[in-house]
Amino acid sequence: MDDPTKTCQYCFSEIDERAKKCPHCLSFQKGIYNPQTWAAILPIVFLVPFLFFTVSRLDAFSGDQVYEDYVDQFRMEFVSILSEPKGTQVTYRILNDSEVKWEEVHYQVIGYGDDDAVVTSVTDQNRDWVVLPKGDALLTVRASNHPKVREWKLKILNCREASKF
Ligand SMILES: [Zn+2]
Repeated sequence: MDDPTKTCQYCFSEIDERAKKCPHCLSFQKGIYNPQTWAAILPIVFLVPFLFFTVSRLDAFSGDQVYEDYVDQFRMEFVSILSEPKGTQVTYRILNDSEVKWEEVHYQVIGYGDDDAVVTSVTDQNRDWVVLPKGDALLTVRASNHPKVREWKLKILNCREASKF
C-alpha cells in the first residue's frame, strides 16, 4: 500500500504526506517548524520593543523644551553694558534655582527705544552655555550700536533640560 505523498515545498521531491521535514533537502514543510521562519521573526519580536525603548530614550536624551516648567526658577540679572565704537556688549547673569541642568537656552535680547519701540534684537547668538542646578551663568550678547536703543532686555524663549544619564 502506497502512503499518500506530497511534494516538498522546497526541493519538490515526493515525500510522505505526514512528513514535517523533507528527507531530501531537510526543509521543514510548515513555516512554524522551520528555523528559517524563526530566524526571520525573532529579530522583529526583539526589535520592536528595542525600538520603542530607543525612541523613548532618545526623548530623554534630547529632552523637551521645558522653559515653561522652570520659568519660576529662572532668574535674570542685568550685569553690565559696554558700548564701544565696534559694538555694544550686554551681559546678563542667568540664575537657575532648580535641580536640573539647563542647556540649549534660546533667548532674545531686545533693544528698546523711546516708547518701548523695538529697535533691534539679537537671537540665540551663542548657545554653547549651560546653567548648572542651583548655579548661574553669564550671557554676553554682542550687538551693533544703535543710538536709539534706550534699554536692553533679555527674554528667555526656551531651554532644554539636560539629560540626567
Ligand atoms: Zn525537500
